[in-house]
Amino acid sequence: MTQNRVALVSGANRGIGLETARGLARLGMMTAMGCRDLAKGEAAADVLRSEGLDPVVIALDVADPASVARAVAQTIELLGRIDVLVNNAGILLERSSTGTSGTALTVTPAAVRETFEVNTMGPLLLMQAVLPHMQAQGYGRIVNLSSGMGQLSDMGGGYTAYRLSKAALNALTRTAAADVGAGPVKINAMCPGWVKTDMGGPDAARSIPEGAETTLWLATLPDDGPT
Ligand code: NAP
Repeated sequence: MTQNRVALVSGANRGIGLETARGLARLGMMTAMGCRDLAKGEAAADVLRSEGLDPVVIALDVADPASVARAVAQTIELLGRIDVLVNNAGILLERSSTGTSGTALTVTPAAVRETFEVNTMGPLLLMQAVLPHMQAQGYGRIVNLSSGMGQLSDMGGGYTAYRLSKAALNALTRTAAADVGAGPVKINAMCPGWVKTDMGGPDAARSIPEGAETTLWLATLPDDGPT
């Protein structure tokens, strides 16, 4: 079922993205690791190669529309198709040293825009680029890495840019799924839990392999799975 499928994973050089690329490759998928820094991407791919896997690295900056278009075209040129898209790349500026404190009262418009470019617009552009191929070939699985921090029913304070971007990603997932309709292309969003990555930090509850479990499940949904 997963043999000969082709997957494109954004932000695949570390964290949940790298683990997802590993998991999909282990399932027999031809895996394209989308990375904005090719050197980092090749270093991560070498780790997978040392495990007997055979990923390819594709230059992909999800905040750059031209890069998104090139990455999708290059993946199809190299591997023939795209069956699975994992929109994993994400940023959480409120935890970095940008100086934005992140509350709704203080967050800067620049921080909100930058976060949206990566966390929301990136997935939108990638979905728009791959969906025509998925619909034409009659198969597709799109997984959007969202967060409980974007869940309206559980919304709290702080992390404003991140929360807005993930709430919008949830809305994008639902509107895209509705627009595509029930059928062979399935679009889902998920929260990986609080995971020990560079973003999640060392105190997070879940290991990186645990964080990738839901991603791998949604990337390999059966024909009667949810969208
Ligand atoms: P991470 O360790 O910080 O890794 C983020 C990845 O995204 C890196 O590979 C990074 O590449 C890439 N990236 C950032 N901006 C990019 C861009 N413009 N174009 C392409 N790639 C870009 O984060 P993570 O914890 O694995 O998170 C993965 C996803 O899960 C994110 O969407 C995050 O919001 C979500 N999530 C994580 C947690 C958690 O607890 N960790 C919880 C909920 C949701 P560089 O190395 O080049 O920066």
